[in-house]
Amino acid sequence: MGGGDWPILIDFERLTGKRSFRSVLSSHLTGEDALRVLRRSDEDIERSWVAMTRRVFGEGVPEPVFFEVPRWEDNELQGGAYSNWGAGFSEEHFNLMGQAMSGGRVQFAGEHNSKDYSGFVHGGYLSGVAAANNVLQ
Ligand SMILES: Cc1cc2nc3c(=O)[nH]c(=O)nc-3n(C[C@H](O)[C@H](O)[C@H](O)COP(=O)(O)OP(=O)(O)OC[C@H]3O[C@@H](n4cnc5c(N)ncnc54)[C@H](O)[C@@H]3O)c2cc1C
Repeated sequence: MGGGDWPILIDFERLTGKRSFRSVLSSHLTGEDALRVLRRSDEDIERSWVAMTRRVFGEGVPEPVFFEVPRWEDNELQGGAYSNWGAGFSEEHFNLMGQAMSGGRVQFAGEHNSKDYSGFVHGGYLSGVAAANNVLQ
């Protein structure tokens, strides 16, 4: 459920059946939708999100105590959420991206260097383990 700017709204308590997730709501925006919404001010985004939750849960939804818009795409050390292999990206590109330099002294690790789990925490972890093992060899 959701609608408008916010096509997806997940109620974690209903999704998991666990009360420990009580009051956890998650909205996901990706690609062009995310860029479109992020072009607006934080206040405007907050207003739009609150209006959507009121359409779903009723006018009793209170004003948020705190609302943060992360804007990872503007963070020069972040550059967005996680890597995405564009059209035409091949296994050869993937292998080049993770290739060690300086005779193995410089290793690259991170979710982008995991073939099976790119975009996930365990992809970053596994590629870190592989890079550490390369250093030890
Ligand atoms: C909204 C969102 C939801 C997600 N949900 C999930 C999920 O449910 N499950 C899951 O498994 N994964 C999820 N992920 C993905 C997960 O967060 C990443 O895959 C993981 O954090 C990647 O780890 P990493 O160590 O490769 O990179 P990062 O965690 O991005 O770490 C890279 C670090 O390098 C730093 N850095 C960059 N450039 C420089 C530089 N030049 N000098 C110094 N430091 C630099 C950055 O600041 C950053 O701290 C999610 C990501 C986002 C954004």
